[in-house]
Amino acid sequence: MAEKTILLDKTPEELAQYLKQEGQPAFRAKQLYSWLHKGVPFSEMSNLPKAFREKLGEECWDLPMEIHEVFPSQKDDTVKFLFRCKDDHIIEGVLMHYHYGYSLCISTQIGCKMGCAFCASTLNGCVRNLSSGEMLAEVLLANRYLGDKGHVGHIVLMGSGEPMDNYEHTVRFLRAVNHPEGLNISLRNISVSTCGLAPQIRKLAEENLGITLSLSLHAPNDAIRRQIMPVANAYTLEETMDAVRDYVKKTGRRVVFEYALIDQLNSRREHALELARLLRELQCHVNLIPLNHVDERSLQPASPKAVQEFLHTLEEKHISATVRREMGSDIGGACGQLRRRYLQSGS
Ligand code: SAH
Repeated sequence: MAEKTILLDKTPEELAQYLKQEGQPAFRAKQLYSWLHKGVPFSEMSNLPKAFREKLGEECWDLPMEIHEVFPSQKDDTVKFLFRCKDDHIIEGVLMHYHYGYSLCISTQIGCKMGCAFCASTLNGCVRNLSSGEMLAEVLLANRYLGDKGHVGHIVLMGSGEPMDNYEHTVRFLRAVNHPEGLNISLRNISVSTCGLAPQIRKLAEENLGITLSLSLHAPNDAIRRQIMPVANAYTLEETMDAVRDYVKKTGRRVVFEYALIDQLNSRREHALELARLLRELQCHVNLIPLNHVDERSLQPASPKAVQEFLHTLEEKHISATVRREMGSDIGGACGQLRRRYLQSGS
């Protein structure tokens, strides 16, 4: 990692402490925090002395990332980004336009070590965690791209990486992005998706954050789940569901289950019935996702007919469910596909 300090990693208190060490008056911390969280470079922080800005520039990063490439969809308003970190690693993010505004899907790690059998993000393993300031930079760069068109109002932590495997920085990011002196994005507008690290789900419930928890379930029982998600060997479905129930009880928030429909494996009527039994009496919503085919993977998506039948079976059993709309399918829709393509092109 580059040796310069990432100022966006710091809380206002930590930033004040840092400036104190630099012999700067306390009020500058507030000014600096506000500029940083608007994505303004040191050179344009007009109310800070030039010499101070130059010194900061030698020791610190203002924005620890840049846009490497932009891929606008031809089919809809979706835009995929490749971002370049200061150590030259590439990550991806997706900007989606909904009727309620812009939503950004961000990465939390460079790669992923969870090993899910359908996912492109994990194919090259995990290089390192992203810091909270790097996650913030993804949002700031998307806002810079949007310019006058708008700004990011919703965030989903569903890009590459497992947020609960990068717990400290994820929670730090959530607090920072919600800070009134910063981007001030409501925690209600943020979803954190996890493959199901049960102890961290329990810990997250204690943080008192109003975010939505998404659990990547993808199977109605352990036997199927273990075929596609190695994490199911570490935590049984019972342990994971216990942690989720605990989360719902503590936070009062409904939980969202992600369920990618894979041909034969998890998409038959018996699977839908088993899923409905598993989720009975839980305050939840199921997001059905037709599997995004990944070239390196042998798994095939369930047919559109099977998807509709699965949905109807859940509805029959009074489980709230929707089929996720496909967006930006022409630009490497699935998690980690774009970065994977970049790595393979050898550029
Ligand atoms: N690690 C976290 C967040 C990143 S993945 C998690 O597992 O939840 C975001 C979502 O996309 C997860 O639900 C994941 O299982 C799903 N996903 C990954 N690859 C996919 C694919 N090829 N088709 C459909 N969904 C996929």
